[in-house]
Amino acid sequence: MGELCVRSVVVTGANRGLGLGFVQHFLRMPKPPQWIFATCRDPKGQGAQELQNLASKHPSLVIISLEVADPASIKAAAAKVGEHLGGSGLNLLINNAGILKLNTLDTETLEDMTQVYTTNTIGPLLMGQAFLPLLKKAAQGSPGSGLSCSKAAIVNMSSYAGSIQDMYVWEFGQVVSYRCSKAALNMLSKCQSLAYKEHGILCVALHPGWVQTDMGGAGSFKPPLTVDDSVQGMLKVLSSISEKETGTFLDWEGKVIPW
Ligand code: NDP
Repeated sequence: MGELCVRSVVVTGANRGLGLGFVQHFLRMPKPPQWIFATCRDPKGQGAQELQNLASKHPSLVIISLEVADPASIKAAAAKVGEHLGGSGLNLLINNAGILKLNTLDTETLEDMTQVYTTNTIGPLLMGQAFLPLLKKAAQGSPGSGLSCSKAAIVNMSSYAGSIQDMYVWEFGQVVSYRCSKAALNMLSKCQSLAYKEHGILCVALHPGWVQTDMGGAGSFKPPLTVDDSVQGMLKVLSSISEKETGTFLDWEGKVIPW
């Protein structure tokens, strides 16, 4: 298994939960990335305090304002990242930002379905489009013909709840808009993998496990996994996957999840 060795990474929704966990783990790596672009909706706000503290200690950490449901915000963020990178490309894009509404089939609404789909599915689509030139540049600048997350990759944070075959934890929550958005995100990941393979970009949908975050703990059960365990597991998976795994749906331990 190779070591995950990226020069640059973008993480969306990096101010709390799994996104913040990714940033912390990247900073702690023996060979940390030269650039960690931590994006969040309100970089100066109270909700980004921990990220601000980290950035004051680590010059490699750049906080960038990004609302994934706003195409203009995505374009502006991609331009800023490009400026920082100078002539070099972006190795890793982690589409982590997401929302969940605790709705049942009876209580879903047009507004909630739309908001959840826009954030969880359209956001990653537009992010992939906007960051494609930078990802391509990283792939072109890397030696070898294979695919890897160290070279150029899009990681879409999906959920087992999007598996149509297994209908994971249905008895704990129907969360219909969330399930639909993640099933669609899985399809998007497959489409991206097919279209971007020729550019040398690996694309994968990843389930982080059931994790102790604001979202994971939104119901009445305490999730079994800590952010640290989940992120450590996912980084191990990302370090080991190659062209064989592009376009697949994996969990935090590298197990294949049925679509
Ligand atoms: P949290 O609710 O703890 O954090 C969500 C993050 O996404 C926050 O940083 C939030 O920012 C950001 N975000 C939400 N909407 C937007 C938006 N429109 N634009 C930009 N940022 C946004 O969630 P988790 O850390 O638990 O989840 C991270 C990912 O993992 C999600 O995609 C989720 O679906 C997935 N996942 C999580 C599981 C779990 O058990 N925790 C299980 C399966 C999948 P803000 O602070 O501004 O709201």
